[in-house]
Amino acid sequence: MIQLIRGFKDILPGEAGLWQHVEGTAARLFATFGYGEIRVPIMEKTELFARSIGEETDIVEKEMYTFADRGGDTLTLRPEATASIVRAYIQHKMYAGDPVHKLYTIGPMFRRERPQKGRYRQFYQIDAEVFGIAGPYIDAQMIHMLHLLFQHLAVTDVHTHLNSLGCPACRPRFREALLAMLDGVTDQLCPDCRRRKDRNPLRVLDCKVPACREAVADAPAIVDYLCADCQAHFATVTRALDQLQVPYTLDKRLVRGLDYYTRTTFELQTGVLGAQSAVAGGGRYDGLVEALGGPATPAIGFAVGFDRLVEILSRQHTMAARPPALYIAALGDAAKEQAFRWAAELLEAGIQVEMEHGDKSLKAQMKRADRLGAGHVLIVGEAELAAGVLVLRDMQTKAQRELPVAGVTAALGALLQSARNSGDDGNIS
Ligand code: AMP
Repeated sequence: MIQLIRGFKDILPGEAGLWQHVEGTAARLFATFGYGEIRVPIMEKTELFARSIGEETDIVEKEMYTFADRGGDTLTLRPEATASIVRAYIQHKMYAGDPVHKLYTIGPMFRRERPQKGRYRQFYQIDAEVFGIAGPYIDAQMIHMLHLLFQHLAVTDVHTHLNSLGCPACRPRFREALLAMLDGVTDQLCPDCRRRKDRNPLRVLDCKVPACREAVADAPAIVDYLCADCQAHFATVTRALDQLQVPYTLDKRLVRGLDYYTRTTFELQTGVLGAQSAVAGGGRYDGLVEALGGPATPAIGFAVGFDRLVEILSRQHTMAARPPALYIAALGDAAKEQAFRWAAELLEAGIQVEMEHGDKSLKAQMKRADRLGAGHVLIVGEAELAAGVLVLRDMQTKAQRELPVAGVTAALGALLQSARNSGDDGNIS
């Protein structure tokens, strides 16, 4: 039997309800904050990711699904969404007129990482980006929105880590100090970090190898090297978060593995997922739009790990499939034909109906209706049809009533209306 690819996974119907619930919650919340949905392709020219994410990163060096297209282009399955959204922002000149745009997208990303619990090769992100706002309040508002997303989903065990990465004006001074410190511990670093350290020393702070983490424990903090503008920006972000009562921890080791980040950077972590503790990450990337050929445009964004969020939720909730309002137990061919037409009529009216398609006994059909959690069962046998009177059983109270065949769908429609109106995507409990 052919199995799915390692690191990929199926989302089965029992779990998909939670995915829909998260998607709906995010879409409603983001719309309130003025974000519009954008959908970008899952594949782009490799160069886009190499240039925006940075050649020195794990993603570009080792993790991209890249292949030569038959036409000769080198294409890559997107490892994240920001680069594509920036490309779209520039390509469609979205900056013309009003450069401010708030966008979000939800979809699959691909990274050839070592698969383990919470880490997949195809995973999903909920991604939000704001273009054209340089001021610090949008940073705080974005973190606030993220905080509310988790609150609306009743996920409480998440904590925000916050840092500033400075800007091209102040980062060189920090880089120098960091390099001087790293030169003293070079032999403790992993081969990747030793190789990268001179070209991109910040990446060493981000390395997950325990020996590297230990080696940089006493590394200087970027916040001590910020220029006056970056300091003022960061001070306003933290003050705004304090005012909004969004809790956070200043984390000097928090740097992003992606090259284009500047100033505010943040990560949401949880204690419930073991090793894969990051559930969302983001920050400012004021230099990227220009680096990719657009006009100089400040920007900030985040990505939530959808799979990890659902993993947390699935420990707290189950998503029950919506049970049918009506099950039609049909006995015999004539009854089945009639039941089929009635079912179609009720389905058209938006009422969830199931019917028996096989040749089961009434007892077996009642059992199945029970298992599905049907609200009512309509019993349609040859005798009932001949008499022109059907039996409707309320599965909760066990009460039975008779319904004349004439006008039965209208009667059922009225009776089951309340079932149709209650809940649209199952029940979270
Ligand atoms: P990043 O784009 O690396 O900043 O990741 C943003 C979020 O996506 C992380 O905080 C994770 O929750 C999630 N994520 C990243 N890589 C994976 C992966 N391989 N499998 C599952 N989730 C991931």
